[in-house]
Amino acid sequence: TTYIHSSSNNDEEFTGFGNVGFLVLAGGTGSRMKANMPKQFLTLSGSPVLHYSLHLFLEKLPEYCAQNGLSPPNNVVLVMDPKYQPEYQPIIDKYQGKLAFANPGKERQGSVENGLNKLVEISTKNNGSPCEYVAVHDSARPLVTIPEIESVVKDAKSVGAAVLGVPCKATIKESDDGVLVQRTIPRARLWEVHTPQVVKVEALLRGFDKVEKENLEVTDDVSIIEALGEPVKLTLGEYTNLKITTPEDMDVATAILADRGDDQINLV
Ligand code: C5P
Repeated sequence: TTYIHSSSNNDEEFTGFGNVGFLVLAGGTGSRMKANMPKQFLTLSGSPVLHYSLHLFLEKLPEYCAQNGLSPPNNVVLVMDPKYQPEYQPIIDKYQGKLAFANPGKERQGSVENGLNKLVEISTKNNGSPCEYVAVHDSARPLVTIPEIESVVKDAKSVGAAVLGVPCKATIKESDDGVLVQRTIPRARLWEVHTPQVVKVEALLRGFDKVEKENLEVTDDVSIIEALGEPVKLTLGEYTNLKITTPEDMDVATAILADRGDDQINLV
């Protein structure tokens, strides 16, 4: 008899988020949104975009963990420009010991590196050893849900790295000059990736080293793991986990939130 081990075996071993640190990226300057402030600070259904992910990691996820016998997330680091930090200090104070600031880097990757260093520092202070996994989340994705986070963390724990994403609905064409089509990429193989992206801290630190030594260009966190030649799992997420990038995204996000009918967010 052959026994096939299904991936649902992981379910039994999943104990929660206790060895996972969450990194919330809010260090961007928002040039594509044509607004006078970065997109993560725009008001979406009564709260700044950024507050949705902070509230999820600091309130809703710990609550869910308490109800389901899971360990709550370890620490949360908020990467934010120093000029906005004073405004968010009351939230840092409210979640003292759990939440800390880090300063942005010039590029997204620099922000992740600064945030990861801070996460290692505070999780070591709290637990005697650094958290084992880091979940990197764009604050511009306010609509991610607990089931999506649970899926991607489970996958990262079994594979080493995982990223939420969805199969591409659009047909994608490539062009060298932005005028004529070079080729059409077979859609069946394409995924659009979202965040959180969850990776082993140890692997990400090794990856940063390699990226720096070999001067590689990476646009997201799991591509660092790909550069190391290590596996990255595509975790099937939801099409609703959109990134607020252009003004019409705000209208779509507002409609999705209205449909969900969640309670108002109250961070401070
Ligand atoms: O610009 P883009 O949408 O790719 O940025 C993705 C996320 O990374 C945003 O949440 C943005 O605030 C953040 N970011 C950052 N530091 C940078 C650039 C972007 O934290 N230097």
